[in-house]
Amino acid sequence: DHRLARISSSIRIIPDFPKPGIMFQDITTLLLDHKAFRDTIDIFVERYREKNISVVAGIEARGFIFGPPIALAIGAKFVPMRKPKKLPGEVISEEYALEYGTDKMEMHVGAVQSGDRALVIDDLIATGGTLCAAVRLLERAGADVVECACVIELPELKGREKLGHRSVFVLVKG
Ligand code: 5GP
Repeated sequence: DHRLARISSSIRIIPDFPKPGIMFQDITTLLLDHKAFRDTIDIFVERYREKNISVVAGIEARGFIFGPPIALAIGAKFVPMRKPKKLPGEVISEEYALEYGTDKMEMHVGAVQSGDRALVIDDLIATGGTLCAAVRLLERAGADVVECACVIELPELKGREKLGHRSVFVLVKG
């Protein structure tokens, strides 16, 4: 796809953020290039528009940037998957492992129903722990997770393996 080179080169790498040794993939520079941002959304929309997706689940915070335009274009509801204590209604939550310690992800009860067909969106898959927590929440609510999609994959961290049989679609590798 000729659009991928521009998307890839619009992502900036910031060394030693948020701590020494991490090469941070910064998608804010992709957002500054309206053609690259548009192409990113278009590629996802082309892939999912005929797949009967009823819910796009976006992971806080960068899944909130890519998820909503995809949801609007394919005619699906958007559901935010949030950090703890942010959602005002009743929630279900899942813990997941970080490099040091654990974090939690929450989703509103009633946002997703049994039979919903879900697409999970985030900016980047590293170890896969974050996407996995989102998948578990959606599956607990009875949804069928059709695919997880990210702009960037860090393949060395083998995040796909954690997702098991569920498929992961990415645009570029870091
Ligand atoms: P994982 O759970 O797969 O190890 O980490 C993925 C999560 O961490 C995603 O929510 C992603 O936004 C964030 N993340 C980890 N490393 C990076 C990075 O280099 N760039 C960006 N933009 N996000 C990252």
